[in-house]
Amino acid sequence: MTVRTFTIIFMLFLTSCASTDHVSRSYSEFLEDHDHRTSKRTVVFFLIDGFSLRLATRELNNGRLPQIKKYFVNGKKGFNVARTTFPSLTYPAITSLLTRSPIDQNEIFGNIILSDNKIYNFESPTNYSQLNKIIQGKNIFSYLQAQGLKAVSLDFAFHSDASAHMQKKDADAALAILGKDYSYLDTKLIRSLEILLSDTAYSQWPDFIFIHLVGLDFISHESGPDSLNAAKYLRHLDAELESVFTILNQAEKSKKRDVIAMMSSDHGFDQKVSRNVNISKAFEHIAPDVEVINEGRFAGLYFPSYWDPERRSSFLQSLVANQNIDIVAEKINNSISIKSHQLETQILYGSGTCHDSAYTIAIVPGPKQILRAQSPIWMCPDQLEPQLNNLYYPYFLSHLSHYFQSPGHPDAVVISKSGVAFESVGAGQHGGPTTQEVFVPLFLHNLTLAPSAPTPALWQLLNFL
Ligand SMILES: [Zn+2]
Repeated sequence: MTVRTFTIIFMLFLTSCASTDHVSRSYSEFLEDHDHRTSKRTVVFFLIDGFSLRLATRELNNGRLPQIKKYFVNGKKGFNVARTTFPSLTYPAITSLLTRSPIDQNEIFGNIILSDNKIYNFESPTNYSQLNKIIQGKNIFSYLQAQGLKAVSLDFAFHSDASAHMQKKDADAALAILGKDYSYLDTKLIRSLEILLSDTAYSQWPDFIFIHLVGLDFISHESGPDSLNAAKYLRHLDAELESVFTILNQAEKSKKRDVIAMMSSDHGFDQKVSRNVNISKAFEHIAPDVEVINEGRFAGLYFPSYWDPERRSSFLQSLVANQNIDIVAEKINNSISIKSHQLETQILYGSGTCHDSAYTIAIVPGPKQILRAQSPIWMCPDQLEPQLNNLYYPYFLSHLSHYFQSPGHPDAVVISKSGVAFESVGAGQHGGPTTQEVFVPLFLHNLTLAPSAPTPALWQLLNFL
C-alpha cells in the first residue's frame, strides 16, 4: 500500500464498526452452518507487508526482535529467504502467494491493472470486490474448503472463499489510516487472531490462517525503509505478537494441535527515494496518446494501435538514454526486448511445459537482428542457470517472462533507476527488480526447506498444503 490509499479508504470504510471478536464469531457461525472435517494441524502464515531483508537482518542481529527470534529462530542459525516477483508490489505478490501461481496465471499483474478497458487500482478498497472476484475459486482458501477444511483470512483486502474473515467495511480502520495510526490496524488484526484462537476449541481451530499486517509498509513509505520509525514499528509488532506465539506454543505443548507457522513478506523496499520524476506528466508532453499506468517505481505503457513497431522502438530507445531510467522492456509478438544503458537482451517464448509455466523461454544476448543467426536453447523460466538468472537483477528474466504472459499486461514497462520515483511517494518505494525489493525474509516454525533448495518464490510457499 502507499500513501495514495488514504483518501479513497476514507469513503469506503465509513459505514460500520467492526469489533475484534468479529472473526471469531463469524468463524463459530461457519462451524455451525457447514459440514467440515476435523484435523490435527493448523498452519499460520504471518505476512508483514514491506518487511525487508535488510531490516530483518539488522534488527534480529541486534536482538531487537526477541519474540520473533524465540518463536521462529530458536537456536537455528538464522532465517530463510524467499523471493517475490516482478513487480514487487503488494497485490500481485499476495495474489501469487494465495493462488499458488506466478502472476501470468491470474490477472493481477500490478497494484493497478487494465481489464476490459477499465482501470482497477487495488489500493482503493472500492476495488476489493473485483480483486476477490478475480481470485475466487482458485486460491488456498477455496482449495482447502473443497476438502472440507477451514481457512481464515485476517486481511482487510483478501478474503475470497475464506471460512471467516475481517469485516469488509470498518469505519474505525478508515479513521486510523487517515490519522496515520497504523498500529491500530495491526493490533486489531492481532487481537482478532488471539480471540479466534482463544475462543475456539483446539480440535476446531482453522486448518489455515492468513494474517496480513500492514503498518510497517505504510511507515516505510512515509519515513523510509531503513528509518528509525520503521525499526521501532517492527519492534512494536514483535512485542504485540508475543500473545499469539504463546497461544500457539500452548497448543503444541498440550499436544492437542500441531502448529506450523511461517512469517514472510510480499516485497522488500528500494533504497531511500532521492529523486522524484513525474513520468505521467512527462508523457502528457512527449507522448500524450500513450496510456501510462504509473506504479511509482515503474510504469506500464500501452501504445495506440497506429504506432508501428519502428515508432515504438525508437521511442523506447530514447527513454533508455534518460538518466532516470534503468530498464525498458517491450513485448513484441513472441519475444521480449530488454534494454538498459549497458545491456541488451531478448527473451523468446517457446512451446513446452514447465512445472510453473505453460511455456519455455530462450535468452539471447544482443539486439533482435543478431538472434536470428543463433539457435535458441529452450529452458524453464524458473530454472535458468545462475549466469542468466542474475542478468540485470536476480530472477529478473524469469520474473519478466511471467509478467509479459499475464492477461492484460502492458505493451512495455519502464523501470526507474534505483532511488528515482516516478511520482511523489514519500521516502520509500518498491515495485522494482532490485535484490532488496525482491528478496524477503522467510521464518519457519516446524517446517524446513531442503538444504540445497533454490530460493522459493512466494507462489511456492503454500504448495505443501
Ligand atoms: Zn506491500
